[in-house]
Amino acid sequence: MQILVLNAGSSSLKVDLLDSHSGERTAALRAERLCTPQASYRVDGLSIDLAGADHAAVLQAALPALTAHPIQAVGHRVVHGGPDFSRPTLLDTVVVSSIAALESLAPLHIPANLAGIRAAMELLPELPHIAVFDTAFHSTLPRRARSYAIPQALGYRRFGFHGPSHQYVSQLAAKHLDEDPRDLRIITCHLGNGASITAVEYGRSVETSMGHTPLEGLVMGSRSGDVDPGILMDMLRSGKSIDEVDTILNRGSGLAGLSGVGKDLRDIEDRAADGDEACRLAIQVLTHRLRKYIGAYAAVMGGVDAIVFTAGIGENSALVRHRVCQRLDFLGARFDEDKNRDAQVSRTTPVVELHRSNSRVRILVAKTDEARAIAGAVAKVASGGETLAENPPIPIGISARHIHLTQQAVETLFGPGYTLTERAPLSQPGQFACNETLTVVGLKRNIEKVRVLGPIRPKCQVEVSRTDEFFLGIDAPVRASGDVTNTPGITLKGPAGKLTLKEGLICAWRHIHMTPADAERYGVKHGDTVDVAINSKGRDLTFGDVMIRVKDSYALEMHIDTDEANAAQISRGDVGALVSSGQGGTLLRRRTNFDPA
Ligand code: AMP
Repeated sequence: MQILVLNAGSSSLKVDLLDSHSGERTAALRAERLCTPQASYRVDGLSIDLAGADHAAVLQAALPALTAHPIQAVGHRVVHGGPDFSRPTLLDTVVVSSIAALESLAPLHIPANLAGIRAAMELLPELPHIAVFDTAFHSTLPRRARSYAIPQALGYRRFGFHGPSHQYVSQLAAKHLDEDPRDLRIITCHLGNGASITAVEYGRSVETSMGHTPLEGLVMGSRSGDVDPGILMDMLRSGKSIDEVDTILNRGSGLAGLSGVGKDLRDIEDRAADGDEACRLAIQVLTHRLRKYIGAYAAVMGGVDAIVFTAGIGENSALVRHRVCQRLDFLGARFDEDKNRDAQVSRTTPVVELHRSNSRVRILVAKTDEARAIAGAVAKVASGGETLAENPPIPIGISARHIHLTQQAVETLFGPGYTLTERAPLSQPGQFACNETLTVVGLKRNIEKVRVLGPIRPKCQVEVSRTDEFFLGIDAPVRASGDVTNTPGITLKGPAGKLTLKEGLICAWRHIHMTPADAERYGVKHGDTVDVAINSKGRDLTFGDVMIRVKDSYALEMHIDTDEANAAQISRGDVGALVSSGQGGTLLRRRTNFDPA
C-alpha cells in the first residue's frame, strides 16, 4: 500500500510517501521554520521559499508533487494519545476533537499535529486518515510501571513515547535474529535528540523511561531527563518563574546544558577528544545513565536477550555504544569493539551485530524508520477494516484459580501411582476439573482447596488472580498459559506430601480460545492481541490486550480471571465482541454488532 505519512512539528513538517511493505520512498517533503518569514520546504530535490507559510500552505503548494502517485491512506504521527488511544485510530471529527482535548498533555506538539491533520483532511478528503500515537505501544505498561508514587487522584501516570520506533526496531531485531518477538526480552535504546529506553518483554512494552511527558528519563539533546523533583521546587522557591524552569529543563539542559556547546553530540565528542572537561562530563552522564537503565530493565524482565541501539546517536556514535556496553559481561552481553567501530546501518543493511559470537545477549544497531513504522500501522488499519466483517459474539468464561500438574507432581502430592479423577468437564474439549484440590502455600498466607485441572501437563503451573497474589504475598507476572520461564516458584501441599516448584506461578493473560476457522472469520492469528467490548449490566466496557490462542481442539471462549469478572460485574452467559484485531491493532472502534441480551 502507498501511504502518505505526516509528521507535523510546531515549526516543521515531514511528509513521506512510501510503500508500507517495502518501506521504499516515492516522495519526501521537508518543511522548516513554518509560520516565520524564513519558511521553506524541500521536495523532489528542489528548495522553495514560502515566507510565512503554515502547514496547510506548504501542503497545498507541494501536494501536486506528492500526489502524482496513487495514495491509499494517510497516516498522522500524534505525539500523545492520553489514556484512551491505545491503537492506531481512524480520524473523524469526533476523534479529532478528542485529540484536541489532550492538548494540556503535550501543549507544543498536539496543536502542531492537529494543524497537519486538519490541513491534510481538507486537501485529501477522499482518503482514510489514520492517527498513530507515540504513546500507544506503551499502553501495555503494567500498573506498577505506569504509576507514580503520588496520590493517584491527581491523575498523573507514565505514558511513554517514541512508541512506533521502539516497536519497529524491536520487531526488526527479532526478524534479524530469526526469532518471534514474543519469545524475546529486548531493551530498545532510542537515542536521538529526544531519547528513551524501553523494556519490550515478549513483544509488549513493560517499562519505558519517558513518563507523563517526554521530559523524564535519559539525558537528551536539550532535555534534562531524570532530576530530583526537589530541585524544581527549589528553583521555584528561589524566584524562578514556571516558564523559566520549563525552559531550563526542556531547552537548556541535557547535552546542551552539560556541555555548554549545544546539543549535537558530534561537536561534543570532538571537543571531549580535545580535552574539554564539560563535554567529557556530558558524555559520561549520558552513558552512565543509559547503563543504569539497561541494568534496571534487565532486572525488570528477569534477564535480557537483545539490546538494540537506534536513532541519531544510537545508530552513529560508536563512542556512546562502547561506553554503555563495556563490562556488561555479567549480564551475558559480550561486546565486540571492532564490530562496534565498523558498524554502519543503512536502509539496505538496517541491522548490524555488535556482540561476540559467544555472547548470550545479542547487541544490535538497528536503523529506525518512524515513517515506515507508521505506514505499517496505517496499512494494517486500512486493510484490517474488512477483517471484522464477521463478528459473532464470544462467550465469556470466568477462570477461577487452579493448578496444572505433571504426573510426577501428582504422585508426590497424592501418593505413588495416584491418578487424577474427573469431577466435571470444562468448556475446552478434553479438559476437566478434578476432584482433587491442594493448598497453595504463600509467604503471607495459604489458599486452601485450590482445584487441580486435568489432564496432566508437561509442566506444573499455578494460575491465580491479582487478589490471590497479594493474599499469598508473591508477585506473579502476567503470562500466557504454558509460559512459565522466569516465573516465581510456589509450594503446594497435598494429602501425601509437599512439593516446591522452582517456577510456575502466573497471573493468566486474558485470552480467547478459538479454532483456526474462527481465527479466519475474525481476521486474527495465534498470539495477536485484540480489544473486546462487553456490555454487562448495561455498562459498556472494553478489555484491551486480550491474547488470541488458536488450536484445532479449542472451543470459542474468552477467559478472564475472577478479579476481572468481579470488576466488570460479569457473570456466566455474558458475551463480548471484538472491536479491533491484529497485533499493533486496528483502529476500527466499530461499535459492536453484538446483542448483550
Ligand atoms: P535524531 O533525533 O534521531 O535525528 O538524532 C539527532 C542526533 O544524533 C544529533 O543531534 C546528534 O547528536 C546525533 N548524531 C547524529 N550523527 C552522529 C554521529 N555521527 N556521531 C555522534 N552523534 C551523532
